[in-house]
Amino acid sequence: MMVRTRFAPSPTGYLHIGGARTALFSWAYARKHGGKFILRIEDTDLERSTQQSIQAILDGMAWLGLDYDEGPFYQMQRLARYHEIAEQLLQNNQAYYCYATKEELEQMREQQLAAGLKPRYDGRWRDSKQTPPAGVKPVLRFKNPLDGYVTFNDQIKGKITVANNELDDLVLLRGDGVPTYNFSVVIDDLDMNITHVIRGDDHVNNTPRQINILKALGATLPEYAHVPMILGANGERLSKRHGAVSVMQYHEDGYLPEALLNYLARLGWSHGDEEIFSREQLVEWFDLSAISRSPAKFNPEKLHWINQQYLKITDNTRLAGLVTPFLAKDDCPTNGGPNLTQVVDLLKERVNTIEELADAAVYFYRPLEPDNELKAQHFTAETKPIMTGLLEKFRHIEWTREIIHQEIKAAAKEHDVKLPKIAMPLRVMVTGEVHTPSIDAVLALLGREETLARMNSHLSSFPG
Ligand code: GLU
Repeated sequence: MMVRTRFAPSPTGYLHIGGARTALFSWAYARKHGGKFILRIEDTDLERSTQQSIQAILDGMAWLGLDYDEGPFYQMQRLARYHEIAEQLLQNNQAYYCYATKEELEQMREQQLAAGLKPRYDGRWRDSKQTPPAGVKPVLRFKNPLDGYVTFNDQIKGKITVANNELDDLVLLRGDGVPTYNFSVVIDDLDMNITHVIRGDDHVNNTPRQINILKALGATLPEYAHVPMILGANGERLSKRHGAVSVMQYHEDGYLPEALLNYLARLGWSHGDEEIFSREQLVEWFDLSAISRSPAKFNPEKLHWINQQYLKITDNTRLAGLVTPFLAKDDCPTNGGPNLTQVVDLLKERVNTIEELADAAVYFYRPLEPDNELKAQHFTAETKPIMTGLLEKFRHIEWTREIIHQEIKAAAKEHDVKLPKIAMPLRVMVTGEVHTPSIDAVLALLGREETLARMNSHLSSFPG
């Protein structure tokens, strides 16, 4: 049997962490088994679906590298097919038109609640011989079996059984002919030969209903795997502050797609103690049985850490390409300045994101003014002659990291001070800050001319 999985988002918002993880699990399962992964856009909620959201989903998947083999299919383009099956169910007496008005349904609900009953449709049109009232657009309802049980073996949650008398007669088609989620999802899973339905466990209550429809159509049932939800770091529902943002936000914040993918995989799934693994390893190791039964917790620090691990091993040329737009945003064009590939090589061990990398690289491309506190601390009468002497030396030496280092050391010896006494004022003059890589490496990359210019511009403001 060829494995066929799908990701079936409703385009009512961006692709967020939870959706991306569901997509990832479906994708990984198909890839592991040499199967097919299908993208289906469930756009039947006409009021809430937007083109913008469809685009956000496609962009998010492309950025994460979740490639699909078929689709995207759009449910609103498949209406004729849903109507065809609806007609078939109607002919076979497995579905019926219901003319109950909104007011009637509301009344039914109130009475049931008042009687301490669970609100549900009472089946009043199920076998009705009444003449349909004029002017009411009927909905089509499914004739759910009245007794017996639905049982399925969820690949994550285990065996689940629901009594049919718990389920009422579901609406298949609304009055305007648009199918409900439960109907269209069933027809699509059937037509697209889906073998494994992997989705969020907010849908677990829908599954018995979907199984009943599939059975009415004489279909073979897929396997179901309902993935527990993701909670925020605080143990509550994932909120905007705790990861319920678009995956593209992580792109904008300077995360690498492979790092986010790695992190998403670890949200609720594990392979021993492995924390960092490639896409290929994930595909090789992925298994539904290793998905946790309890909700996963979103941990931004861990994502940060994973991103840092990936940055360290990322090729410098690629990093240079990724950091360029961030620098441009910082009003910091890199042409004409030090070689960006070498700059990122020097800085990448020290940062967690591309955005931080850009922030750390700014002083290579334009001088940063140190704040007054730093100036007061490091630009002193005592250091002035040392810096002046060093500047003179810098005019003539060969401009390499080693030789710059030797000069700094020689100055320390000459003035009988510790190395930081020289390195810190120098660093503050040239970079505007105190946290930078080794100052000799920074100066070597920055170049003699720029170094001298920055030193000169500050020396006049030293006291004494
Ligand atoms: N469209 C549904 C959603 O976005 C997914 C349904 C499914 O996977 O069956 O929640």
